[in-house]
Amino acid sequence: MSGTDPEETVESVCPCCSVGCRVRYSDRRDGAVGCDGAPVNEEGRLCRNGIDAFDGLNADDRLTDPLVREGGTLVSATWEEAFDRIEAEFETVLDDRGPDALAFFGAPRCTNEENYLLQKLARVLGTNNVDNRARICHGSVVSAMVERLGSPGMTNTLSDLTEADLFLVVGANPAAQQPIAFNSYLRPAVNDGATLIHVEPDANETTRLADAHVAPTPGTDALFVNAVTAELLGRGLQDEAFIAERTTNFESFAESLASLSPDECAERTGVDAERIRHIAERFGRADRAAVLVGTGAEEDDHEGTETADALIDLLLVTGNIGRRGTGMNPLRGLTNEQGANDVGCRPSTLPGFRPVTDADARSAVAEEWGAAPPLRPGRSELDAVRAFGDAIRGAYVVGENPAVSKRATQSVARSLESLDFLLVQEAFPTETAEHADVVLPASLWAEKGGTVTNLDRQVQRMRPMTAPPEGVRRDLDILLEIGRRLTDVRFDYDDREEVFDELTRVNPLYAGMSYEGIGHESQRWPLPDDAEEGTGILHEERFRTGERRTAFVPVEAVPTRVSAHRD
Ligand code: SF4
Repeated sequence: MSGTDPEETVESVCPCCSVGCRVRYSDRRDGAVGCDGAPVNEEGRLCRNGIDAFDGLNADDRLTDPLVREGGTLVSATWEEAFDRIEAEFETVLDDRGPDALAFFGAPRCTNEENYLLQKLARVLGTNNVDNRARICHGSVVSAMVERLGSPGMTNTLSDLTEADLFLVVGANPAAQQPIAFNSYLRPAVNDGATLIHVEPDANETTRLADAHVAPTPGTDALFVNAVTAELLGRGLQDEAFIAERTTNFESFAESLASLSPDECAERTGVDAERIRHIAERFGRADRAAVLVGTGAEEDDHEGTETADALIDLLLVTGNIGRRGTGMNPLRGLTNEQGANDVGCRPSTLPGFRPVTDADARSAVAEEWGAAPPLRPGRSELDAVRAFGDAIRGAYVVGENPAVSKRATQSVARSLESLDFLLVQEAFPTETAEHADVVLPASLWAEKGGTVTNLDRQVQRMRPMTAPPEGVRRDLDILLEIGRRLTDVRFDYDDREEVFDELTRVNPLYAGMSYEGIGHESQRWPLPDDAEEGTGILHEERFRTGERRTAFVPVEAVPTRVSAHRD
């Protein structure tokens, strides 16, 4: 084994998607293999991407020296020189323009500890301008779920979803994008008789297993779902007991749907009226129906919540929340998409999805950090990029490549150029790094440890399987050094476990978790006091808002919007 070959016995978490399969390196296979009895891929299966997860670890284009821009050119520097430059440049921006002239971008490929430290750095310096690109991936759905159910993750678990009689999959392609979850949990249920209805503009791998495929005209997903709910109510298939005990505002909601007929909706959505009637009948008669929702259900502005609200209403009308095999289940895509958001890498929420204006959350954070976070919500990544060179003068980008991940590539490149100071922390040369003033060579997933949170709320530990190449530092160590240089608060931790411990004290979702408790298994949020394991099915007796009931949202004039691009 060479110095950077991974160790065969150490287990980590696959870095390729949010399912969170456990992997280890197999010398015999010269690649990844799964681990029997793992929390998600219990049978040790991996998909093609997972099997190839170690490819690139020994790639010869790794960044191995810090780079500093001198006279317009990026040249090699020592770590000390790079850190000195970072310290001086950040302080210049802070002195000249104040903290809101800085922006911080975390990443779903970074661990919970790394994203937590990045948002702590931003907030201690005095700005909420901190974001990660995965925040908008399910922005509409998460926003509706937080508002109405009080929780930003899957209401259920992959394992209990096997008990569903019906899956309504909207704007997602789990057969290709979450393949081990699809093949281990959904496919067996469908093979055993569960119905799969796929709502998606174009047929794809998931459609092959579907009993019905519908493709509403772009922008009419909410109308289609409301038409199904209206038809279901017309057939008397609602769950009267659930509506009476767990909801409010049903009468005005039902009234708002009264004029929706399948024939009229067929004209507007392009979905055959008979198909709408058939789906309403199947959904209404299912004992357990689950919604799985992907980025295709997002509104184009990621702010409107019509489709998400319509899906939640459908679940409430039929009593499909708070039981096994039911619920509203966002299919997160990127590795630590859930965790990056949970730990506060968002401009308007502190760790635990608590608003930056929430007095309790603010005082908990202030007590732990010794510094109060700023009160005013920050800029989103998109807003910050638009303000580069204007209101935003300096940026710290960790594991992100906004030069290609935003749609208007050329204008983003111009924006990056217009910054007074751009710091990029990356493992490989990227388009964004080309515009940087300082580039720090960072570690890859197999070279570092920490925790990541998968799509069904399980926090697992990644373990370093190999040392970073000579010259490269681990992301956490880089963040700690920058935090120590720029702030007066705690950025001295003995190890990543101490960072995680601090995170559990300021993030109620992760309260009670520990490295020891996670061990080689996982801990799922929320983890109630004294419970041996986290809560699988949310909202059983009460919603996470603390209330026993949640309100229906009357449909004013059933909207027609342009939906986001499916990906
Ligand atoms: Fe990795 Fe996702 Fe495939 Fe599992 S399903 S092996 S986490 S890419």
